[in-house]
Amino acid sequence: MHDFHTHFIPHDVLAWLKDNKDIVNAKWIKKEENKDDFLVVNEKWGFELKPSFIDADLYLQNQKEAGVSHSLISPIPQLFMYDFPHDITTDISQVYNQSLSRFVTQSKGHLSALGTVPLSHPERAAQILHDAMNLGLKGAIIGPSAAGNMLSDDFFIPFFEEANRLKAILFIHPLLSEDPRLKKWMMPNLIGVPWETTVCATDILLSGMIDKYPNIKMLFAHGGGFLPYQIGRLDKGYEQWGAVSSNLQGKPSEYLKRFWYDTVLWNPASIDFLVETVGEDRVVPGSDFPFDLCVWPPQTSFTKGIQSLLD
Ligand SMILES: [Zn+2]
Repeated sequence: MHDFHTHFIPHDVLAWLKDNKDIVNAKWIKKEENKDDFLVVNEKWGFELKPSFIDADLYLQNQKEAGVSHSLISPIPQLFMYDFPHDITTDISQVYNQSLSRFVTQSKGHLSALGTVPLSHPERAAQILHDAMNLGLKGAIIGPSAAGNMLSDDFFIPFFEEANRLKAILFIHPLLSEDPRLKKWMMPNLIGVPWETTVCATDILLSGMIDKYPNIKMLFAHGGGFLPYQIGRLDKGYEQWGAVSSNLQGKPSEYLKRFWYDTVLWNPASIDFLVETVGEDRVVPGSDFPFDLCVWPPQTSFTKGIQSLLD
């Protein structure tokens, strides 16, 4: 069993956070008696900092007990730091990538990793991606937007050109939705998170980026959000409106098969639908471990998807 969607925070990253806690407004907050402290950076998206996020031995033990033979670990979205000055974001990205690279080496083949990049500064993000892949990382996890730009905006060209040249995996991972209507019942996470992926994936698909950068392996979190389910609507729009078809050589449902998707969906019927819609070779097992909403261990192994993503 592989796991392509899981997060970890190495000791050096935590030390960096503590050293820079005033600059990045990091707080450790005791919320509930029986829970670990919540980590909140810049007043956004606090989460329980469970030991499995930060204890390397424990992480590997959890992995073994769950029957996961290999995990592609990623930084956590809360530490993307895109809102901070570029030097801060670059600094934590470098610390994160170097320490993940060391963790991979220590794991004796049980781990590989993606890095993080200062996406708000695409030229610098390209350089950091290059450095990370020189350290043996497979690519990067990135948010669905940065500095107010959608990923298809020309702003990001230097980054995507480099990712294409390096044949990087780009794991596109949502942040919490800031839709002002979503306030109650954890909706910013429950539906806001897959909605952010839906917006980003639709933008990338319709922009024709996939033809422009054919060597980038784009992996969308949480089964691609709501996009696979609504792909019929995009196909109809493609037939109907030039604004939808202008950048594409074929129907959106064909382009959908050129991304990869994880299986963090819980509902087996949803996973079956995803596989039927995009093909088994485009679906990879994921868990989102150790966040609260994780599928642990990952439900299904898709050998073809694993091979096609890692090739
Ligand atoms: Zn995640």
